Amino acid sequence: MLKSVLARRPRSPRRTPRTARGLLVGLTALGLGGVLALPTTPARANARTARHYTAHVVKKGESLSRIARTYGCSIKTIQETNGLSGEKIRRGEALAIPPCGPGGTLETPTPRASKSGAAPLRHRVRKGENLSRIARTYGCSVADLRAKNGIEGSVIMPGQELLIPRSSAVKAPEILGQSVGAPQRGRLVNASRLRSGKGYLLRRPERTYGTSQLVHYVREVVGSTRKQHPAAHRLAIGDLSSRRGGPLSGHRSHQSGRDIDIGLFYTKRPSGYPSEFKPGTASNLDMAATWTLIKEFAATAKHDGGVEVIFLDYELQRALYKWARKQGVPRTTLRKILQYPAGRWADAGVVQHYPNHADHLHVRFKCPKGDKGCS
Ligand SMILES: [Zn+2]
Repeated sequence: MLKSVLARRPRSPRRTPRTARGLLVGLTALGLGGVLALPTTPARANARTARHYTAHVVKKGESLSRIARTYGCSIKTIQETNGLSGEKIRRGEALAIPPCGPGGTLETPTPRASKSGAAPLRHRVRKGENLSRIARTYGCSVADLRAKNGIEGSVIMPGQELLIPRSSAVKAPEILGQSVGAPQRGRLVNASRLRSGKGYLLRRPERTYGTSQLVHYVREVVGSTRKQHPAAHRLAIGDLSSRRGGPLSGHRSHQSGRDIDIGLFYTKRPSGYPSEFKPGTASNLDMAATWTLIKEFAATAKHDGGVEVIFLDYELQRALYKWARKQGVPRTTLRKILQYPAGRWADAGVVQHYPNHADHLHVRFKCPKGDKGCS
């Protein structure tokens, strides 16, 4: 079955091996500039930029190597994708699995580029999966899945490999049903976890759970900001949600895995930071790095499951606005991002004033489309 599916795979002579440059061109053509268009190593670029991932919820007794084998990924790829430093994984945890090589035995070192510049996507059917569930996972229709794979009816077999139709929509590795209810009254199911990583400190590791979309975007945005400001100090990451969500001391929201508190960048790292948040002012902030961080988060607002709102004190918005104007950032750009100067209660911009948010950003992510339990 696997063979027959692969044999039907269309092969165009115009296909060329993917290079980082080709990837960039393809991404730009798809309108995926900015945050996502900076591949580092080829392996990492591949994992980061292939838009369709599989969510795997770790079952009892499963090891990382077994999961890697199941999906034909290397352990390293899965570690990098999920920010894991070792092989320790936890039952019930959701891992994002990038599309890896066919056959389950090797990583494809040279993915082929299609005309649109991206590799064809495949999904290996697991036990209990049906077409509509797979369609939901990848954000395509059942009809498209059938057409792409020459399937009539609904019968698919575990182990069978399906080609996934490409949609033009930008997608985070998407898991639906994690965020239940609202940020002020909700919970978290099959939580994804923001792992410790380079350039940031998790202040309270027991509060680093969220939706897969949140974890994905935070890693992308922080990584991209660091690349643009390599000399910046370590960034403080405050609370997300607890593993099962629900009320979290010190917060009214942060209950459903869609909120995260993130520190600011300073020209000189204040003592105590990043273990604690420190008040930002017009004179102590590293405006360039802080602005990049905000701008990159705001840029995800147009994507499914991207940023809904960023809370930040109005006076700090004023300072950032003035700095950005001096740098020549156009007012039209600033208007889309900052609430300043429309007034601290105005419905304008992605960044909104909120009292007591002068020492961190509070970033809230939208419910993913089609996630009915999330509100
Ligand atoms: Zn908060």
